[in-house]
Amino acid sequence: MSIEKRSFDTLIIGAGGGGLRAALQLAQADARVAVVSKVFPTRSHTVAAQGGVNAALANVLPDNWHWHMFDTVKGSDYLGDQDAIEYMCRAAPRVVYELEHFGVPFSRLDSGRIYQRAFGGQSRNFGGEQAVRTCAAADRTGHAILHSLYQQNIRARTHFFDEYFAVDLVCNEAGYFLGVLAIGIASGEPILIEAKTTILATGGVGQLFRTNTNALVNTGDGMAMALRAGIPLQDMEFFQFHPTGIAGKGMLITEGARGEGGYLLNGDGERFMERYAPNAKDLASRDVVSRSIATEIREGRGAGPGKDHVLLKLDHLGADIVKKRLPGIRDMAMTFLHIDPADAPIPVYPTAHYTMGGIPTNRHGQVVVPVQQGAEEPVPGLYAVGECACVSVHGANRLGGNSLLDILVFGRAAANHVIEHLGEHRYHQPIPEGAADQAMARLERWNRQGRGESVAQLREELARTMEDHCSVFRNQEVLQEGQEKVLALRERLQDACIDDHSRVFNTARIEAMELDNLMECAVATITSALMRTESRGAHSRIDYPERDDQHWLRHSLFSLEGHKMDYKPVRIKPLTVDSFPPRKRTY
Ligand SMILES: Cc1cc2nc3c(=O)[nH]c(=O)nc-3n(C[C@H](O)[C@H](O)[C@H](O)COP(=O)(O)OP(=O)(O)OC[C@H]3O[C@@H](n4cnc5c(N)ncnc54)[C@H](O)[C@@H]3O)c2cc1C
Repeated sequence: MSIEKRSFDTLIIGAGGGGLRAALQLAQADARVAVVSKVFPTRSHTVAAQGGVNAALANVLPDNWHWHMFDTVKGSDYLGDQDAIEYMCRAAPRVVYELEHFGVPFSRLDSGRIYQRAFGGQSRNFGGEQAVRTCAAADRTGHAILHSLYQQNIRARTHFFDEYFAVDLVCNEAGYFLGVLAIGIASGEPILIEAKTTILATGGVGQLFRTNTNALVNTGDGMAMALRAGIPLQDMEFFQFHPTGIAGKGMLITEGARGEGGYLLNGDGERFMERYAPNAKDLASRDVVSRSIATEIREGRGAGPGKDHVLLKLDHLGADIVKKRLPGIRDMAMTFLHIDPADAPIPVYPTAHYTMGGIPTNRHGQVVVPVQQGAEEPVPGLYAVGECACVSVHGANRLGGNSLLDILVFGRAAANHVIEHLGEHRYHQPIPEGAADQAMARLERWNRQGRGESVAQLREELARTMEDHCSVFRNQEVLQEGQEKVLALRERLQDACIDDHSRVFNTARIEAMELDNLMECAVATITSALMRTESRGAHSRIDYPERDDQHWLRHSLFSLEGHKMDYKPVRIKPLTVDSFPPRKRTY
């Protein structure tokens, strides 16, 4: 069968903030750049980001990038790579001013400067008083950023493949990545997109869990593509549960709500965070607040008839602040709960939110793999940026406002590296005969219709299993059982069929491939969680409650083949400043 083929200098898979920031840098440098996205670009999950993006602009209170770096290292529970963290925090003011120039309508202070709000885990002077570092466009910052980046890309003539689904990466025998096999979702036709460099920017895998804040399309496709191409996934055991999801539903109430002065109450009306984090209180790091909420409920101090949630109180801020600074949150609470947060508290519970782990890269966005003890090498032709990547700037726990920053800084950095690469590599490498066979076989596999188990039902079972077995608190027994269940579900998927009701839409095929990807990510997540016998950041083991730097100050690497685990040391050395050695983490 002959497949349509297109060629570009660079191919970017994913049109969220990470992909679009990279694309813009490349298009402005006159590279021929294509962006593939399974949803229309401005529907990527970045659009849902609420609270803002961190940069030490010091518009409200004194601040500097070095304090931001300290907070990020501490927030990561010392698992973040300090060279990448330094690079990100130093670059932050520049990328925010660039956004301003791209047209992002930031909220303003009376002085006319960019509005900044307090977020969790932020401090002045290396662990002192609360800092105010998160630049915001009301509570719709992601929306403002994504739309501005999209418009700038249109202007720079980036080529978009809208509503194309990337099936699998294509590489030659020497392991050089040459592009991707994709399928047009409307037509069902395959297309081979050939490129000198490929950047994965496919976002996170929040759909692993039943209750989550993520878009339905966040199914970890890029991570699973990398795994199938022989690249291990790093630190997948670290999944962030955001403390304030709407109870029972999961939609996000931004940390900005607490940044504006909101706080949490238990069923007894007590402001319980004062007990868990005497200094930072409700603005302690997310892992700390989520665990505190889960503990309050477990010990019988939840709110509501089922005592199964806590309350986020905002009414004392006054209707004006709620309407001006948190309009989206107010809308959401009114739509889904019929509650106006200017009058009454919002019931909240921790919800799966952010994938700290992902495809291992260096700070240029190059995908790196271990070659021998302690050493690693870039994979030729392949980059990863954004939530699908693990640079790692978030380590074991991401700080709010640092992910929008991550996607912008490393989207830009990867593009700059690609531009250099393109200067030295003018010609395409030939795609060998049969290089796309494996990807085509995957497509063919999901043409199979019949009366097997349904894909939708398996997806639901997977998400429930992950929620029951790999959530805020974990232990050996529960994880072990969860791993067995996930592996069994993965087996069952092999025999599943897409429904053979009179007419099959291509979307059914896409959903099946997404579930296939979710399964790979689930195995990676639960296996990595089972193997790490300590508590660090978001990974909280009841059976190993302490952090164990002696054995575990290292990143995990999960490989698909034989479900093998490997480990590598954390890059402790920053680029130009002294490192922050691990200390006890209190807020
Ligand atoms: C509700 C919510 C609120 C948030 N608020 C904040 C905040 O205030 N501050 C902050 O710093 N962070 C926030 N975050 C986190 C942050 O928004 C994300 O981590 C970040 O936007 C991810 O960007 P990305 O470019 O990596 O991926 P995404 O924006 O998720 O984009 C992924 C892209 O990949 C494409 N794609 C995926 N698979 C395929 C495939 N197989 N084929 C083709 N295309 C594919 C999708 O179509 C999409 O275009 C929030 C997250 C959520 C869920």
